Amino acid sequence: MNTNPSPSPSTETGPDSSDKPTRDEALQAVKTLLRWAGDDPDREGLLATPDRVVRSYDEFFGGYDVDPDEVLQRTFEEVEGYDEIVLLRDIDFVSHCEHHMAPIIGRAHVAYMPDNRVVGISKLARIVEAYARRLQIQEKMTAQIANSINEVLKPKGVAVVIEAAHQCMTTRGVNKTGVTMVTSRMLGLFRSNASTRREFLALVGSPQTR
Ligand SMILES: [Zn+2]
Repeated sequence: MNTNPSPSPSTETGPDSSDKPTRDEALQAVKTLLRWAGDDPDREGLLATPDRVVRSYDEFFGGYDVDPDEVLQRTFEEVEGYDEIVLLRDIDFVSHCEHHMAPIIGRAHVAYMPDNRVVGISKLARIVEAYARRLQIQEKMTAQIANSINEVLKPKGVAVVIEAAHQCMTTRGVNKTGVTMVTSRMLGLFRSNASTRREFLALVGSPQTR
């Protein structure tokens, strides 16, 4: 037993990287799951599969290596007094649900009301990606995106709406295809001012959201 006397590090940012299994352990784990599925990992068609799965994981879960707050650090202040809604609509993303590790495929709409500072619009898409490429639940991801923008950019308001299909629901379990889940998080003026919220929802153009 390894008893560590030093205080354990904060778990908020995820597990200590020294706990990360080796690549070879990950390859072996995929082989185990292939056998669990009832197949033979040593047959020709499956020989390269563990390697492909592990490389896919690097992509699907690359968000753990991105600090979302850092993405938003670089801002621009010469905005000529622009103080209307900035909206990036229809940001496609792929995430994975933390309960089944099944894909969540959807679109995010991210808006904020600047307070003298704006951020490059590609950064809003990168924030979505940083949180999507982790194990997620949609409600949490929606809140995380809004909170990051709110804390780093300190705008007058933030609004995030996410619509997504959950393959754990469409391909298994209740097997309901074509169902999407809609979540939203409104902060600042988008929460307190009904006309700002209405303007945002009209721009997003989603009748399913309130
Ligand atoms: Zn699920």
